[in-house]
Amino acid sequence: MELQGQVAIVTGGAKGIGEAIVRELADAGAHVLINYHTSNLQAEALASQVNGTAIRADVSTTPGCETLLLAASELGGPHILVNNAGITRDGLMVRMSDGAWESVVRTNAGSAFRMSRAVLPIMMKQRSGVIVNISSVSALRGNAGQANYAASKAALIAMTKTLAQEVGKRQIRVNAVAPGFIRTDMTAKLTEKVLDAATEQIPLRRLGEPKDIAPMVRFLCGPSASYITGQTFAIDGGLSV
Ligand code: NAP
Repeated sequence: MELQGQVAIVTGGAKGIGEAIVRELADAGAHVLINYHTSNLQAEALASQVNGTAIRADVSTTPGCETLLLAASELGGPHILVNNAGITRDGLMVRMSDGAWESVVRTNAGSAFRMSRAVLPIMMKQRSGVIVNISSVSALRGNAGQANYAASKAALIAMTKTLAQEVGKRQIRVNAVAPGFIRTDMTAKLTEKVLDAATEQIPLRRLGEPKDIAPMVRFLCGPSASYITGQTFAIDGGLSV
């Protein structure tokens, strides 16, 4: 129960990787604010199973981020922020619309910027805090058809390094996790042919599961990671090697 007494925000926490992170952080003793945008039934069900509260907010907007901050501050936090919300709008770059570029960058990188900016004044006052950004293997090696997504996830890695330098002296740690191909609704959109081709390239020869990612996030949020900041950890079955 290394996170006992802490208040954690997990954006996009109702399903997939976010849900697994919510379960790990709650298991470690944190009270988790389970942010959702459209998955209200899953969020409410999860909140009834763990030490958590479901909160609707669109984190691609500043008012949405302020809603989450207010809820966390009423509970005495936030102590932990996991920027997990993300979307894909895949397509080859030669045909990519402005809308596909802007919505993905706004949601994936913009939400992490807005949420982090919102929580920082409280964390700076506390002189402690942890931020974990969920990036992607696409940021590390690129991925045809994902110029918008890969760029947004690479922005998260650069933001992680920069923010770690800015707030380290206040004992706020900022790290990133870069998952590979993980079985969630996001990858369910891909054809079996694409997934089989991806699996062939993964040294461990399987797709990952959300539970492969969440323990690393728990570790990064806890006291055992107290000397780790500015880093990106690939959890991808070796795909990025
Ligand atoms: P997922 O099941 O589709 O989950 C995406 C989550 O993002 C949902 O909970 C969704 O909330 C939330 N979200 C999207 N837009 C939002 C917004 N404007 N405001 C609030 N929440 C929003 O996919 P996933 O695989 O678990 O993805 C989780 C994270 O892992 C994403 O950042 C993704 O890029 C990253 N990732 C995934 C993989 C993979 O292979 N699956 C690999 C690398 C990185 P609602 O459902 O409530 O709308």
